Amino acid sequence: MRYRNFPMVPRVVFGNGSFLQLGEILMPKRKNSEAPFIFFIDDVFDGQPLITEVPLLFNDQIIFISSEEEPKTEQVDALVAKIKESFPVLPSGIIGIGGGTLLDLAKAVALMLTNDGSAAAYQGWDLVKKPAIYHVGIPTISGTGAEVSRTTVLMGPEKKLGINSDHTPFDQVLLDPKLTQGVPKEQWFFTGMDCYIHCIESLNGTYLNAFSQSYGEKALELCHEVYLKDISKEDSRDKLMMASWHGGMSIAYSQVGIAHAMSYGLSYLLGVKHGIGNCLVFQYLEEFYPEGVKVFKQMQEKHQIKLPTGICAHLSEEQFDIMINVSFGLVPLWENALGDNWKEIMTYDRLLQLFKKI
Ligand code: NAD
Ligand code: ZN
Repeated sequence: MRYRNFPMVPRVVFGNGSFLQLGEILMPKRKNSEAPFIFFIDDVFDGQPLITEVPLLFNDQIIFISSEEEPKTEQVDALVAKIKESFPVLPSGIIGIGGGTLLDLAKAVALMLTNDGSAAAYQGWDLVKKPAIYHVGIPTISGTGAEVSRTTVLMGPEKKLGINSDHTPFDQVLLDPKLTQGVPKEQWFFTGMDCYIHCIESLNGTYLNAFSQSYGEKALELCHEVYLKDISKEDSRDKLMMASWHGGMSIAYSQVGIAHAMSYGLSYLLGVKHGIGNCLVFQYLEEFYPEGVKVFKQMQEKHQIKLPTGICAHLSEEQFDIMINVSFGLVPLWENALGDNWKEIMTYDRLLQLFKKI
């Protein structure tokens, strides 16, 4: 047995209002006045008070990015080209401010500024050879665990797959729960459920070990407090931010499972976003995760969240085939969920019937 030697985020700040410390955190990392910090910020913050608190100096730049669609390899390539054209030297660093979409873009661009070619060539495991430039992640919505993970999930020309590498994790993360204040309720639920589903899939998987379990159980406990108890808004924001962190840590040393495998298929074919896609699938997985699905429905009920129906109602056989193939391509997820003989358990037809319910 060979054990994996994983990197972790080496520095993290946590606390309400900690965003105001960003300037002093970045200062020692500034290479010189020519080498800017580039801030990728979710365009939902354009014109908001947060922008006045971004510690700009010299020729630092803010690039507003829409998270309407999930990040694409061609988008990463375009951002890298734009930065290289605009500045004679490599930036001092990239700072991603937003949800999983912005965090993943920041990681990917930081990697691709030092590695040649298209981001699509690095989708997979351990294909990145050179360290990224300094990169910082600042989540403004909690749940994905992208702030701790060693992947950046990208839609490429051929597949939706992460750039998984030791160089992917952030050098610095700043967790300021106050930044999540404005998140709309539905989005708060969908992205938070990404974390909840990470826990359920990790804790019920065959890859489980004490490392993953310790983080997964803590994250699950926090999710229960946030979504089932009546705690204050401030407490809830703090706890969900830490749930996301622990949920991400939990899957670092295990894997996700069926909801994620199917959700990737939905996302690839129909562009369904990760959080809602997971929920759309997970509600029908009671035969695999009975307790997890039962509690999910209680949370949904408590917060009056309605999920859309009929998403797959009018798909052709070919379209189902594409989704099923994308989904079956994620072998470690199926192995984790169902064991070595997963192909006997999850047949093509059984998966088709599950997709047809959505
Ligand atoms: P997101 O980044 O797409 O943002 C969702 C919505 O919330 C957007 O409309 C955004 O504008 C809005 N929003 C964010 N912060 C806000 C705030 N403070 N106030 C108001 N609105 C705000 O959503 P997400 O669920 O965080 O991320 C999904 C992405 O994360 C997907 O692309 C998925 O592939 C990726 N992901 C990555 C990992 C990883 O480990 N790298 C893990 C899970 C998911
Ligand atoms: Zn997820």
